[in-house]
Amino acid sequence: MKIGVLALQGAVAEHISMLLALNTEGVPIRLPSELHSLDALVIPGGESTTISKLLSDYHLMEPIRELASQGFPIFGTCAGMILLAKKVPDLDFEPIGAMDIEVKRNAFGRQVDSFEADLTVPALGDGTFHGVFIRAPVIDKAEPGVEILCQLGDNVVAAKQGKMLACAFHPELTDDLRFHRYFLNLATGDALAESNYR
Ligand code: GLN
Repeated sequence: MKIGVLALQGAVAEHISMLLALNTEGVPIRLPSELHSLDALVIPGGESTTISKLLSDYHLMEPIRELASQGFPIFGTCAGMILLAKKVPDLDFEPIGAMDIEVKRNAFGRQVDSFEADLTVPALGDGTFHGVFIRAPVIDKAEPGVEILCQLGDNVVAAKQGKMLACAFHPELTDDLRFHRYFLNLATGDALAESNYR
């Protein structure tokens, strides 16, 4: 498998390392032509306003929207999740709009810009997942068809829809490979994707 990691800004190298640890090739993507021959795409965290502007400037927005509309597997972490949403009230640019979710940016407020929390993610099996939250968003609304994978209190912080996966935190900043493995299973259409960890 060959997985593209959008490399306009943000935690690109960390995602590529996670993929490598799963014996999967991760390639940085900066040009529309590099989207060809990929099996899936990761959109890393960073600053969603900046990334969405660069997506337009580098003519990547439309090709990625097109891929998303064909059910192409995409994993967005933090700012990547913001970009995958259909609706983001305070974003200056149009998001990619691939998932039927409404996302609120910087949802945990300034006083907790960054924090870490052990999360329960039933789809990943037993054992909590260490969530690293950095000026993190939350999913405010999700249409039917979106499956909630994780909540932190009342806040929805991870979800999937078809082969799209989104989380508000940064699995690539831990050494826990389960979220990336889950995405690879989703991408390959592994029928066992959801039961692999149980
Ligand atoms: N707060 C950032 C934004 O709104 C996201 C932060 C992150 O990706 N760690 O884009």
